[in-house]
Amino acid sequence: MSETLYSIRMRASLRGEHVSGAERIVPEADVARVTAELTERARAHGRGVPDSITVTVDSLAGRPIQRLDALPVTGLLFGSVSEARERAVSELVRAGVSEPAARDAMSAVTSVGPNMRGAMVLDARTGARLDDSGPKGVRARTVDYDEAAHTVVDAALSERGLSGSRIKEALALATKVAHAPGAVAELCISDNPGYVTGYAASRENGYVRLTPLKDADSASGGRVFFVDGAGLDTEAYLNYLRETPVLVGGPLVFVSGDM
Ligand code: AMP
Repeated sequence: MSETLYSIRMRASLRGEHVSGAERIVPEADVARVTAELTERARAHGRGVPDSITVTVDSLAGRPIQRLDALPVTGLLFGSVSEARERAVSELVRAGVSEPAARDAMSAVTSVGPNMRGAMVLDARTGARLDDSGPKGVRARTVDYDEAAHTVVDAALSERGLSGSRIKEALALATKVAHAPGAVAELCISDNPGYVTGYAASRENGYVRLTPLKDADSASGGRVFFVDGAGLDTEAYLNYLRETPVLVGGPLVFVSGDM
């Protein structure tokens, strides 16, 4: 019988505002160590030391695990925020998002205001919001790399000077989000000041990393999940994002570009 896996989720807030979150799926023997690691990480986040950290551990016993190959990665560097944003919009359009919907989403995630903890789910054609989670947004969760991929992905990132967990976790999340039923594309800009890289991702075009999508002193950011709204089973879509356990496998494929 295969070993039971556990989902570990961390979320941290400061004065009621979201600071950071993270996800892991690990065997029982690693639960204590990874719980401690995520708690420490929450305390080191650039948006401030949180006054509340919640770590949730759930057994995944009896739940089928979906295995997915990591999306291929392309890296693009630009001379200005506006050029990088234009390219992000065209990547979204290439994946099937209408241009007005892509532009509206870009304005929404880059506007100043309280950041969401999760993502907005938008119709890729009309730009209409389809989830009813309000200012909290929808969080994709229950995703991690399989054990072998952790090693391979860490080595591949370190070879390119990309050690650290940001791209690693974002790529696992984007891989799951891109395979959701009805998914079209995703846009992400970090809300961490100083982290100016973001991405546009889709099953067809992979994970396109873009720098700089915002100014270094900006704490604005967010995520948008674009879906094919016609005939979407919203409940099945949201259930997949939240509940289906996904383990992402390597290798990490770099298509081209500067990271
Ligand atoms: P981050 O890359 O962690 O700075 O996150 C950027 C934005 O993406 C956050 O402000 C949230 O709105 C959103 N976000 C972060 N984690 C998730 C998640 N697991 N699912 C959906 N949206 C998320």
